[in-house]
Amino acid sequence: AKKSGKNNFKFYVHEQGSLLDRKFMLEHNLKQAIDHHEFYLEYQPKLELQTEHIYGVEALVRWKHPELGVISPAEFIPIAEESSLIVPLGKWILQEAGKQNKKWYDAGIRVKMAVNVSAKQFEDPHFVDTVHQVLSENQFPPQYLGLEITESVMQNIHQSTLILQELKKLGVKISIDDFGTGYSSLSVLSKLPIDFIKIDQSFVHESTTNPIAASLVKTIVEMGKNLHFELIAEGIEKKEQAEFLIENGCYRGQGYFYSPPLSLAEVELLLYKNQIW
Ligand code: C2E
Ligand code: CA
Ligand code: CA
Ligand code: CA
Repeated sequence: AKKSGKNNFKFYVHEQGSLLDRKFMLEHNLKQAIDHHEFYLEYQPKLELQTEHIYGVEALVRWKHPELGVISPAEFIPIAEESSLIVPLGKWILQEAGKQNKKWYDAGIRVKMAVNVSAKQFEDPHFVDTVHQVLSENQFPPQYLGLEITESVMQNIHQSTLILQELKKLGVKISIDDFGTGYSSLSVLSKLPIDFIKIDQSFVHESTTNPIAASLVKTIVEMGKNLHFELIAEGIEKKEQAEFLIENGCYRGQGYFYSPPLSLAEVELLLYKNQIW
């Protein structure tokens, strides 16, 4: 066992090395990937749970790396954040989502577009200008654009409040993503111009099996309503979870039970079928 211990150690170092190589490579390649058109968006439908009508989509970015294939945002967004490349990448995502949203709006499809915004992008001094630019280049009512931010931006509450107020003036809708995983309270958030609270998928997944998760969901819904937030549940994978949410007053959601994130062609097909003209 001792003998192989040495080999294991070497193996471990090697594995670490290759992980670092991959990260280094991704970071290096990220710089050109926008110009090389390697990013694209998928769209996950958001539904009114009682009627199953699609009222919106969430844009989710993917990276088609020429050698490594499709890379998950869970892997490359943190790398883009570390290197500040999230700012130009985030701008591209907003512009792409904005252009798509205008096409749908002009075609008579009334669907709201939500875009994820990372904390570093949100805090960039040009962020509000970028949102303004996207709205003026693509003429659709601003409430058709939503921004999903996480509780982590609340660490700098003073600066975030100012940015949120500017965004509110533009007319876009703001959601707090992954709610319940951070440390912000709903009462603090209620003083800010926030429209939606997205209940984190970890609570949704356990809501029908774990009584603690169930009561957390109930509390978030109840308090959220009293504070005049609209509630959305993410990560709905089972019928029972949807039923639990409806019974407890959360009437909007998304998740694999309804649809995974879809390509543009796939989501358009759904949207045309779904539309009440
Ligand atoms: P998120 O914003 O919380 O997005 C939800 C994630 O859960 C997405 O993963 C989505 O595909 C996945 N999901 C949806 N329904 C279900 C379900 O029923 N069950 C499970 N297990 N998962 C579900 P994805 O697309 O891999 O994105 C991961 C994270 O990467 C996102 O989490 C978000 O934090 C980040 N991200 C994705 N796209 C963007 C983007 O355009 N900009 C920024 N800044 N971040 C993004
Ligand atoms: Ca999100
Ligand atoms: Ca989320
Ligand atoms: Ca997340």
